[in-house]
Amino acid sequence: MIKKFINKLLGKSDSAADGKPAKGKKTNYGKREDIGVATHGIDNDLVDDRARDVVHVLKRAGFQAYIVGGAVRDLLVGLRPKDFDVATNATPEQVKHLFRRAFIIGRRFRIVHVVYGRGREHEVIEVTTFRANLDNAAAEQVKGNEKTSKSELAGMKHAVDSTGRVLRDNVWGTQQEDAVRRDFTINAMYYDPETQIVVDYHGGFKDAKNRVIRMIGDAAARYREDPVRIIRAVRFAAKLAPLGFKLDSKTAAPLLASQKLLADVPQSRLFDEMLKLLQTGHAQSSIDTLKALGMAKGIYPLLDVVVERADQTLVRVALEDTDRRVGEGKPVVASFLLACVLWADVRDGWAARLRQRQHSHPALQDAIDDVFNARIGDVSGRGKLAADMREIWMMQPRFEKRVGNTPFGMVDQPRFRASFDFMRLRAGCR
Ligand code: ATP
Ligand code: MG
Repeated sequence: MIKKFINKLLGKSDSAADGKPAKGKKTNYGKREDIGVATHGIDNDLVDDRARDVVHVLKRAGFQAYIVGGAVRDLLVGLRPKDFDVATNATPEQVKHLFRRAFIIGRRFRIVHVVYGRGREHEVIEVTTFRANLDNAAAEQVKGNEKTSKSELAGMKHAVDSTGRVLRDNVWGTQQEDAVRRDFTINAMYYDPETQIVVDYHGGFKDAKNRVIRMIGDAAARYREDPVRIIRAVRFAAKLAPLGFKLDSKTAAPLLASQKLLADVPQSRLFDEMLKLLQTGHAQSSIDTLKALGMAKGIYPLLDVVVERADQTLVRVALEDTDRRVGEGKPVVASFLLACVLWADVRDGWAARLRQRQHSHPALQDAIDDVFNARIGDVSGRGKLAADMREIWMMQPRFEKRVGNTPFGMVDQPRFRASFDFMRLRAGCR
């Protein structure tokens, strides 16, 4: 108790509260299990030729290489994976040398993009080197702080800042070490398309069969380690709900209480995770899942707005339309969905300015600025997003004039559909 108090005064928290493994608590690395095709029944036709090629080239050069993560999960449940990641014991430099068009990207987390094809048709296979889970003590030795220069940091394989945030995560490890760092058991399997063997350390195969989404290790500690896993739990629950998957009770239990940890996550990362909830074909299911978990509020302010407005006609149709388009393999853009979600704010702000006798055009411009600044934070691609949303919104009055609609009745009118399609057209979703 006294130790706790002193730690608090010193700004230290209990070891577990940092998301670092508690002292004396051993990591359970699991036991390797090889599962053959007769048992798992993966349809090799669902495996992308380019992923197969990456594995083949790496293996031929003497390295270990496997398809990993979400793709293995999807293959096991009979879904065609939308992208393929490969994990290997080759370092990024070794991977790069083996392919004609391969690029090392990222500093904090160095990976290799192997590129096939050109232009719109190009395909990227992401290749990651097996990583080890550094424990607290090892991380301390290379602890970065404000005084650590960029070049010093570049020489470090692993570094954390004073809050425990990982600045660099490039300590290579074995496949077994790599597996335990992953989030859910169903996301931590490795598949060799040549031998058709699935390698599993944490009972992922059994969980996939039983339709369980289970965090590896202690769920609360893993959410503290990286709070984005909270949103990932919601995402996989929503995505896999139609297949009968449910969150394991110990994985679900700490979700609500852990939600406050998201306050420390950079806005742009939350924004990207929000778009993955809404733009990967299961927006409706995501909203239902959030509500069912009691997490309709508090993950991210803009997501709160989406959930709150999910039953309003314009937003509902936009979400349904997004799910349908993704299901049909058509492209979707964030600007369109967000323009629909935030149209009510723009409309109200515009009306208020008109009442103050501001001219229509500048009134709309100003209302748009207000809404964009208030609702969209410091996110990646902010400039382009702002330009696209502005374009959609600025076209609305012109369109409404043309169809002789009253300025603000759009959502309730039968003509609404046309206006909606128009918004979509402006957003470039044909
Ligand atoms: P999707 O089909 O939506 O792409 P995915 O499982 O492939 O799902 P990715 O974000 O592409 O998800 O991540 C690939 C893999 O990396 C995951 O399957 C998981 O093993 C691991 N991973 C990703 N993010 C985390 C995280 N925050 N914590 C632990 N492991 C993670
Ligand atoms: Mg993926």
